[in-house]
Formats: sequence, structure tokens, C-alpha cells
Amino acid sequence: TEEAPNEDTSGFQAKYFIKEVLGRGASSVVKRCVEKTTGKEFAVKIVDLTTERTTEADAKEIYNGTKNEIAILRMLAGHPNIVELHEVFESAAFIFLVFELCRKGELFDFLNRVVCLSEKKTRVIMRQLRDVVAFMHSRNVVHRDLKLENILLDDQLNIKVTDFGFAAIIPPGSDDCFTDLCGTPGYLAPEVLKISMYQEQSSYGKPVDLWACGVIMYTLLAGYPPFWHRRQMMMLRMIMEGQYSFAAPEWDDVGQCTKDLIRRMLSVDPQKRITAEDALEHGFFQISTLVRLELS
Ligand code: ADP
Ligand code: MG
Repeated sequence: TEEAPNEDTSGFQAKYFIKEVLGRGASSVVKRCVEKTTGKEFAVKIVDLTTERTTEADAKEIYNGTKNEIAILRMLAGHPNIVELHEVFESAAFIFLVFELCRKGELFDFLNRVVCLSEKKTRVIMRQLRDVVAFMHSRNVVHRDLKLENILLDDQLNIKVTDFGFAAIIPPGSDDCFTDLCGTPGYLAPEVLKISMYQEQSSYGKPVDLWACGVIMYTLLAGYPPFWHRRQMMMLRMIMEGQYSFAAPEWDDVGQCTKDLIRRMLSVDPQKRITAEDALEHGFFQISTLVRLELS
């Protein structure tokens, strides 16, 4: 666990002790770390620019992607439900992103432990998630990879949205401007899939985050995702057709208002999909939150 990058000229290791692995991604590893002078704990995302399999073009892309991630995190700094970027170190081989530590880990693992959540507890999470998405969208940032693995929990079990690796800014005056395929299969919005699978001449924007919110909300309540098939191609087709159901018995006791919000988020037509702003007025959020999440 003390395995460290061999030649760190960035100064990160002079300032922090590196501890155990907290999580991994495609080109990064996240570890707990401790600031030497204060003993304060953080999480450091170590982006490796030089692994053997990465070509120079890959390294450039990873570098630019990380720079974009940092710029967007700084644009969004200060929101209580977005992970705080503490500081950044950079050498030729590595970029170190030092984040506040989210000790309770991923919402994904939390859900696996408790199997599924009540409507009340789902409301606690979805209210915070809606606030984050409304905030990002008001600043013209689209996250593009919202999912249970990228939502972390702090000590009080408040959510902290993280992983802005695919996040992008909508230029002023244009609504839908993205055409690239990125994200995670089970959370991809139909319009994203249609562009890459049917070469549709169109583009997508903010509504993709609301689709992902719908997938998250459904999964929290059911304990399984709305779109799933062991053959990925079939799953993608189900997504494009909006083919999911509120199956008995697990959905029998879920209220109509709750299902209505999921339906509005999982609207195949992005024009008809609810926006983060409009979601605030939805009945699901009008009920006051009286419960807290707790670890069982
Ligand atoms: P990637 O872009 O490679 O997916 P992420 O930023 O999503 O990287 O981090 C990967 C994983 O590391 C997360 O899913 C989570 O398990 C863990 N992790 C990331 N940031 C933190 C943090 N601030 N506190 C605790 N764990 C974290
Ligand atoms: Mg991630």
C-alpha cells in the first residue's frame, strides 16, 4: 500500500504520506493520504501519464483530460455536494489531485450493502443530486458520467459528486453541442447512443445528466438498474427504446408521484425530459425530508 511513484518531482510526496488504495479508474488510482505537517487526511487521485501501454497520443489525451477536469472542478468549487479539490501537483510523469476524503466511499457500495432504499431515503439523496445538477447546469457544465460509483458519501452521509473526467462546458448560445460517445453503458441517454449507432446528425447536452439521474433514482429504489441485459447490445437497444418497467412486487408500494418523476427523467425524447430546474417543482421534492441515511 505504500507503493509510490518512483520519481516524484512535483513535491506531493514531500508534503503527504501515501496510504491505501481507495479506488481505481482507467488511468488513475485514488489513495488515502495524510498531510505530514497537520496529520489531516485527504484522497489523492494519481494520474499516471507514462504507463507502458499508453502511447504518446494517449498520454496527451489523459493530460488534457485531467487539465479539463481540474478547470471544471475549480469552476464549481464551493458547492457542498461537489467533492472539494484541495490542491494539485504536477510532474512530467504524474498529476496529483488532492481531494477532501469521502470516508464512507461510493453510493454504489452503500446501496449494495443495504440492497435498496426507501422512498424517504431516496428523496434525501435525490434532493442533493438535483441541487448539484441544477448548479452545474446553471454554470453550463454537463457532467456526462453521473452514476452510483461517482457519487461519494462523507461522514454525515451527504453526497459528494466526483469524477469530472468527462465533464464539458456548453459554449454560450448553444444548447446541445456534444457529439462524442462518453460515459458508462448502463447510464447512457438514448440520444447519445443514437448519434453513435445510427450516425444521426444531431448533438446532445444537459438532458443526458437528467437521464442518468433517472437511472440512479430507479436503481436506488429497486436495487437493480432499469436497463439490463446480459448482451450489451440488447441493453443499448432497450435504452434507445426506453424499455423499462416498474415490475411487481418491488414497485407495488412505490408511490405514483415517485414513479412519475422517474418517468419524466427517463423520457426518451430529450426535449420532453424534465430539467433540473423544473424538477425542483415536482411533487416528489415537495415532501419534506425527515429521515437521515444511516449505515446499517
Ligand atoms: P476515474 O476517473 O478513474 O473513474 P474517480 O475520480 O471516479 O476516478 O475515482 C475512482 C474511485 O476512487 C471512486 O469511484 C471512489 O471509489 C474513489 N475515490 C475517488 N475520490 C475519492 C474521495 N475524495 N474520497 C474517497 N474515495 C474516492
Ligand atoms: Mg469514476
